[in-house]
Amino acid sequence: MVGSCIGVSSTCSYGTTLLWGPGLHTFISRGHVIGRSAPIQVLNRTDIKDIRIGKRIYFTAVSGGGRRMQTALNVTAVETLQKGIAEFYDESSGIWENIWGDHMHHGFYEPDSSVSLSDHRSAQIRMIEEALRFASISDDPMQKPRQIVDVGCGIGGSSRYLARKYEARCKGITLSPVQAQRAQALAAAQGLGDKVSFQVADALNQPFEDGQFNLVWSMESGEHMPDKTKFVNELARVAAPGGTIIIVTWCHRDLSPSEESLSPEEKKLLNKICDAFFLPAWCSTADYVKLLESLSLQDIKAADWSENVAPFWPAVIKSALTWQGITSLLRSGWKTIKGALAMPLMIRGYKKGLIKFAIITCKKPVP
Ligand code: SAH
Repeated sequence: MVGSCIGVSSTCSYGTTLLWGPGLHTFISRGHVIGRSAPIQVLNRTDIKDIRIGKRIYFTAVSGGGRRMQTALNVTAVETLQKGIAEFYDESSGIWENIWGDHMHHGFYEPDSSVSLSDHRSAQIRMIEEALRFASISDDPMQKPRQIVDVGCGIGGSSRYLARKYEARCKGITLSPVQAQRAQALAAAQGLGDKVSFQVADALNQPFEDGQFNLVWSMESGEHMPDKTKFVNELARVAAPGGTIIIVTWCHRDLSPSEESLSPEEKKLLNKICDAFFLPAWCSTADYVKLLESLSLQDIKAADWSENVAPFWPAVIKSALTWQGITSLLRSGWKTIKGALAMPLMIRGYKKGLIKFAIITCKKPVP
């Protein structure tokens, strides 16, 4: 297993960024540099796209100076990561649903508010509402979104909520077959079977034609994406002209102009979280904004909601320490237990100002 990689590149992504664009890349796995490349242009790109994941691939690249070189890339990193994500959610979604319901994301709270456990579910709905408000999604019957995609849909909590709210159609994608099945069953039970549909599909290679969706929704899935450039490109590709993209995601703090990277201690903390929650390298909110700008998207807005989510993880830990929480955890499996043990690390990351809970929105221009 290659493990969690830190790609010191413009997009801070896993190794495979190399396949899709030029840039200076250093590939580090568990503290060891496993590869470096100068700004390159990949020559035999089509062959590479066809290669089966899970193999070490060799290809010819040409450097900025025109020098040709043989390079290799281990694509098992992405394969390993995505398999881990699918298994993690297959295993843990049932417990989460039993204790927390169908939304698998942070709640939105007034800063410094004290809340009882029963308020947490409404805080999760508030998160959805605040995100829609931030992105100025209209309730006007003539302007409200009609076609929505929920990228990284979990068990479909957002999809059903949005479909109901806007009387819209929504398509959800997830890597977890258990989640896709459960999401569909809940939709059918709630009389939404003809409005929402779910499938197992990769957000980095979405099974949708260009320009289909008025609202592209990604609620806490971006942090799982090993290639942020590809991720954002796909969101923009499937958005309809004039459509809105909403990304709510975990980021690391923005770097100051004098910094090249996070400190070693910061990286160490994030790596532990990556291991537990099946996350690749993180990027900052500013990195996302840059990516959106590079695609000429409009009305780009970002905000830091870290203070608004502060009560969330302490509440999750509290619920895990109840009798129901402990027995469910023990019955679940190692991946879920490992995730639970990492929860205090999230709190530490927020307290240090290292982890940021970010919302980034934009619109796709009408040509
Ligand atoms: N948005 C949901 C679930 C968040 S949990 C909610 O708010 O309730 C993260 C979700 O992202 C999981 O469903 C996971 O399967 C999905 N995910 C992670 N990487 C993905 C990828 N590459 N393609 C599609 N879904 C992905």
